[in-house]
Amino acid sequence: MSIKLFIPAIVALLFGFGLGCIPTLNRHLHWNICYVVPVSGLLFGLLTGGGQFRICYHLNVKVGSWEIAMLAAAALFGFIAMDYGIYTVSTVIVSNTKNLQDGAYRIKDLMTFIEYMRWALSGSTIGTPIGEPAGLNTFKLGATGTTISYIADIAGVLTGALIAMLSLPQLFPYCDRCGRFTKREQRFEMFIINIENLADKIIADIKDLINKGVPENVLACCEQLAEQYHVKNGNVKITVDHRICPQCKGISIVGTVHRLTNRDWHEDRKLRFFMNSQPQPAQIQPSV
Ligand SMILES: [Zn+2]
Repeated sequence: MSIKLFIPAIVALLFGFGLGCIPTLNRHLHWNICYVVPVSGLLFGLLTGGGQFRICYHLNVKVGSWEIAMLAAAALFGFIAMDYGIYTVSTVIVSNTKNLQDGAYRIKDLMTFIEYMRWALSGSTIGTPIGEPAGLNTFKLGATGTTISYIADIAGVLTGALIAMLSLPQLFPYCDRCGRFTKREQRFEMFIINIENLADKIIADIKDLINKGVPENVLACCEQLAEQYHVKNGNVKITVDHRICPQCKGISIVGTVHRLTNRDWHEDRKLRFFMNSQPQPAQIQPSV
């Protein structure tokens, strides 16, 4: 496992902590629907996982099973670091206690982080330094802060991070031979009105060519199809990403298919297609 992997892991921790330190965001960071649908956790996982993959891409660190497990764990710790950020900036109103005067206190001055988490998970009300009245805005973490909803948050973070890190490596192929991510060479787009399953026939034709194993033929076909099918009101979009390894010049082709539903494009992941081809050793150019 590459030592470089610690960079996206640390960035995930800093990202979480930084989010937690923004008081105006605090009330949105544990947003669950019906206590158990972890909207914030899922978004945090998707953002963190996507960001971590992007860093790996720029560092040319392959994202395999072990790396995904480590980065998903880092995303989870990033989420806990977010709570640590909330803990460091949040305030609480104290009244009618023996040892303290009534007033607003920073939580970190009153208890440890572990104590704070126990307290928050019990459904306590906490405040942030921004808002009213008197510069305080209290919000009920307990609305989503029960233990069950926190577990749902964690599940959301892991799910989001895994979705990002399992799907992105498919779209950005890695050349194992050279230890580098492929770079985009060109991109073809086809917009098709899907009458009589025209799009399915086109996809089948492309896959037939892929099975014959000559990437240049696949690319020539896709270029021709992109010129032929560019209907503005098409309801199926086929995108073909032609990528090459910067070192060995091996070709990768990634095809995605989107359907137009209610004015939005949605990918039909079952229809993705791929091709990888590395040149023979004699064809490999020395890297500059
Ligand atoms: Zn290569």
